Amino acid sequence: MKIHVQIFCALFSLAIATKVDYSGHMVIRVVPQTEEQVKFLSALESSSSIDFWTRSVAANRFTDIHVSPESYNRVARALLEHGMNHKIHIANLGVLGKEEQQSIALRRALASNNKAIDVENYHTYEEIMAYLADLASTNPLVSTLVAGTSVEGRQIVQATISSDRSANKPIAWFDCNIHAREWITAATCVWIIDTITSGYGTDAEITALVDQYDWKFVPVANPDGYAYSWSNDRLWRKNRAINSGSACVGVDLNRNFPSGFGGEGSSNLPCSETHHGVSALSEPESQTLDALIAADRGRVKAAISMHSYSQLWLSSYSYSSALPVEYPEMV
Ligand SMILES: [Zn+2]
Repeated sequence: MKIHVQIFCALFSLAIATKVDYSGHMVIRVVPQTEEQVKFLSALESSSSIDFWTRSVAANRFTDIHVSPESYNRVARALLEHGMNHKIHIANLGVLGKEEQQSIALRRALASNNKAIDVENYHTYEEIMAYLADLASTNPLVSTLVAGTSVEGRQIVQATISSDRSANKPIAWFDCNIHAREWITAATCVWIIDTITSGYGTDAEITALVDQYDWKFVPVANPDGYAYSWSNDRLWRKNRAINSGSACVGVDLNRNFPSGFGGEGSSNLPCSETHHGVSALSEPESQTLDALIAADRGRVKAAISMHSYSQLWLSSYSYSSALPVEYPEMV
């Protein structure tokens, strides 16, 4: 036990030395009551580097905003000027970050060795890639494809689970962690992959689902951002592209697709967390996902992009709050 504690302390002090410190940062919650207030919040998100954790889409729905100690008064005043009070939803992000590091280290120390990965813990990009490679080499259901490379040259890997690859079955397709800091989503992809592969042949429902569909996953759709969120900045969201003429790094890959490009809920400002990039599919990561879906055109029956946080199903095409014509078919 003592050894565990020492390892943990060493890891922890290393983490503190290299990472962005969010001590004193808060998440505040505001509930707009009018369309005008909704529009103000939406404009604030697109026109500033203020970090919105949930988008303002409709009156009476909460919006969570991450504020630094320096920006808090300014944001609170702007909200008041538009008739909105707020409450403090998370009092100190720095404390949460430290608790998360402690939890990861503790789980690592206690992890049993009977699986290639502890599917209930967070893992680095390298660990997730090693897990997929191991699975592909040991489980005949699983194959992997290096579908593309990121801005910094990391592999974007798709894992396929199929009981008969020549059958061209309909496909259920998932991408996870296109937003770097949404760690629970890569963990969710890994968890689903583990559940399906370990349940096939023993669990009747899983076996039937694998016999009917091919299952495809891109567990880390934004590898550079994900790696950076581990090494430097827990709250990094975008990819790591250099923006010409700006010191601010990164494109919001989820705003870089052709559908609704550059519209509502995205920003042309490189410093915005929702920066859409110079043009649709300007980024290698979004190009890769686009090409994967296109390659399976006609077979993809469900495509699910995992995000956190919220408890929401968003239908395509969610750049707009108007329902698409395909909505009944999607439901
Ligand atoms: Zn997201």
